Amino acid sequence: MSKHIQAVRGMNDILPEETPTWRHLEEVVRQLLDAYGYHEIRMPIVEKTELFKRSIGEVTDIVEKEMYTFEDRNGDMLTLRPEGTAGCVRAGIQNGLLHNQQQRLWYRGPMFRHERPQKGRYRQFHQIGVEVFGLDGPDIDAEHILMTARLWKMLGLDAVVELQLNSLGTVASRAAYRGILVEYLWHHVDALDEDSRRRLDSNPLRILDSKNPEMRPLIEAAPKLTDHLDEESQAHFDTLCAILDEAGVEYHINPCLVRGLDYYGKTVFEWVTNKLGAQGTVCAGGRFDGLVEQLGGKPTPAMGFAMGVERLVSLLEAEHVPEEHYQPHAYLVQVGEAAQRRGLLLAEQLRDALPLLRLEVHCGGGSFKSQFKKADKSRAPLALILGDEEVANGTLGIKFLREETEQKLLSQQDVIDYLSGYLIRSAT
Ligand code: ATP
Ligand code: MG
Repeated sequence: MSKHIQAVRGMNDILPEETPTWRHLEEVVRQLLDAYGYHEIRMPIVEKTELFKRSIGEVTDIVEKEMYTFEDRNGDMLTLRPEGTAGCVRAGIQNGLLHNQQQRLWYRGPMFRHERPQKGRYRQFHQIGVEVFGLDGPDIDAEHILMTARLWKMLGLDAVVELQLNSLGTVASRAAYRGILVEYLWHHVDALDEDSRRRLDSNPLRILDSKNPEMRPLIEAAPKLTDHLDEESQAHFDTLCAILDEAGVEYHINPCLVRGLDYYGKTVFEWVTNKLGAQGTVCAGGRFDGLVEQLGGKPTPAMGFAMGVERLVSLLEAEHVPEEHYQPHAYLVQVGEAAQRRGLLLAEQLRDALPLLRLEVHCGGGSFKSQFKKADKSRAPLALILGDEEVANGTLGIKFLREETEQKLLSQQDVIDYLSGYLIRSAT
């Protein structure tokens, strides 16, 4: 026999036992974003490679070594999107959504990075991203943080995540700080790892973001960008902190938080947990006031963040039993020739009358015993029983699979009323 073909390493199937948690998360996020007045946008998964090089930055992990880039049949260089912001900005410019406008947008979907697969780090992973355009004040930065803080409460995760916050200042203040940092790092050049040495010239701030634990002490002792902020960025940051203080949102200012992409300036933040091992950042973002112009649009302030869906799902699974909202309400057991002919039609009538009913119809025949086994496995609380006798009398049996209630025999019309009441009771 030929060898089974396996999925691409680091690209996972999301199995039926996991999807309830995914859907729960997606549903809660969607409700939250609707409630805050954000609008969904859907972008292509493939973009021109140039878009990511110009936005994320040539000297970043993503562009240097993580992108899935290929030449298509026309000879164009294309890339599977490693993140959503670049595509969102491209779509905003191309469709005239940004100039002189305010936009609150969100998207979700798969992203692709050729990283070393491990827990919480995959080659295809999913993000839910939020981007706001046309607002330059700290109020919108605060809205993003308050909104995510509310999300953790809605998901029951507020006790296991904490907020880290920093300001990267303006381009000018970063340039001034860069000189100070490089001087410090040259003094300690022997202690730098290979990656960092390479970045000393090209992108020294990124060294602060190093994941190498041996670099930690050196990085922690480095001069801090927060001590060299320009006045405007400092005032922006102070106002943001004041709003968070008033709202009672706790945060830790982390001067080493620089984020892995070039386009950020001023506010950056991450929500981190210590429950997932090394891959602890579940949500990350910041301000990117320069990016729209960098990609050819008119200067437009912008702020956004992205959540890692796999990491949040793991956290939900670790924190409590996954939601079980999606099992059927009822399983239709149908035994006998007449019943099998009638069953599917009866199910359609029930669905016409009760659009919210989740009804699983037994197919493939079998004895009552084997069909009840399937009913039980479906986790439905009710079994609807249709035998040849019920067909002849226009009735339907209702058996309670998860509670001690006596079986009922109702007319098929009364079953509709009964199920309607049942749906109302089980929704509350
Ligand atoms: P990390 O520091 O963990 O590598 P990052 O800074 O590269 O993250 P971002 O580009 O900011 O990540 O992406 C936002 C979020 O997407 C991350 O905080 C994380 O939750 C998630 N994420 C990023 N890369 C991966 C990946 N390879 N697998 C799973 N989730 C990821
Ligand atoms: Mg990364």
